[in-house]
Amino acid sequence: MEVRTSDRFPGVEWVGDPGDFIKVDESRCDGCANCVRVCLAECFEIKGKKARVRTLAECMECAACWYVCDKEAIVFSWPPGGTGFRTDWG
Ligand code: SF4
Ligand code: SF4
Repeated sequence: MEVRTSDRFPGVEWVGDPGDFIKVDESRCDGCANCVRVCLAECFEIKGKKARVRTLAECMECAACWYVCDKEAIVFSWPPGGTGFRTDWG
């Protein structure tokens, strides 16, 4: 499987294609931008007063976006086993 790295986040890598494991339920989103502020990987953007996933290319699967969304608009599922974020740090 393809393995990617990022100059922004040395020491970690992303394996394969984990798919769209994070989505925004726009019917619940009020555009508060908490998800944008908390995500170090800049995965979200606000368009038309709603959040949307910009890219999950550098998502570290920390679930902070899910945790801070008061509207329960973040639909979060873990990537399939063996894909996605990987680090030797545990
Ligand atoms: S934190 Fe939730 S409600 Fe706020 S912009 Fe993000 S998805 Fe929408
Ligand atoms: S899980 Fe973490 S890194 Fe991934 S989109 Fe949410 S806040 Fe960003």
